[in-house]
Amino acid sequence: MSDLLKNQHIDKIQFGSKQISYYLLRSARKTLAISVYPDLKIRVTAPQEADLESIRSKVKKRAPWIIRQQVYFSDYLPGKPSKTYVSGASFHYLGRQYRLKVKKGHEDQVKLSGRFLFVSLVNYPNSKKVRLLLQSWMKAKAKLYFDKKLQEWWPKMPANNIPKPKLIIKPMKKRWGSFTKTGKVLLNLELIGAPASCIEYVVVHELCHAFHKNHGKAFYRLLENLIPDWKNRKEKLEKFGI
Ligand SMILES: [Zn+2]
Repeated sequence: MSDLLKNQHIDKIQFGSKQISYYLLRSARKTLAISVYPDLKIRVTAPQEADLESIRSKVKKRAPWIIRQQVYFSDYLPGKPSKTYVSGASFHYLGRQYRLKVKKGHEDQVKLSGRFLFVSLVNYPNSKKVRLLLQSWMKAKAKLYFDKKLQEWWPKMPANNIPKPKLIIKPMKKRWGSFTKTGKVLLNLELIGAPASCIEYVVVHELCHAFHKNHGKAFYRLLENLIPDWKNRKEKLEKFGI
């Protein structure tokens, strides 16, 4: 929320086991308005004369919607990657952690061995080159793996005559994945670092969007049918942070 205003304060309600805190703002408007922002903050704008109890009861009534919005925005925000490309740096691949070892070699090459990710360079040292090599290696691995998951899960989706969505992979700052307006599955390159069960969850989540655009009840019903433990996987993915 960037437009924080002065005449507001923080209020909260209890909804089941969940505490919902929100910025309460008074304005000249006649009705109460609730907004949920991508950073998960909530702002409630209430008429000047509305009493706190009625505001709270209205917020409580809208709590399921508020939580849905927050789930939508937190869908799978990746952690901020801040990688260095020198020996000793750590990288994740399919949920396992590997140490980077850079050395001089006869050819430019990336290889996984034991708990190490070996990068050999003809012109050593050159951390920019290491970054480029690793990125293209990760991208090739991601493409193979994500494609495999897509192939595996598409036939399990509801009967339809939609062709299997195409896959696009690119680094993204804020999302693990999305389903594009043109019907493609867009996945974050960094997702290849996550555990296999989490990758599967993201792939299936996006495939569900081929049938249900929004995160409504029908969407979650389908997701739950396909991956009954999706909540655990989502939680694991959130904790993972690349
Ligand atoms: Zn979604």
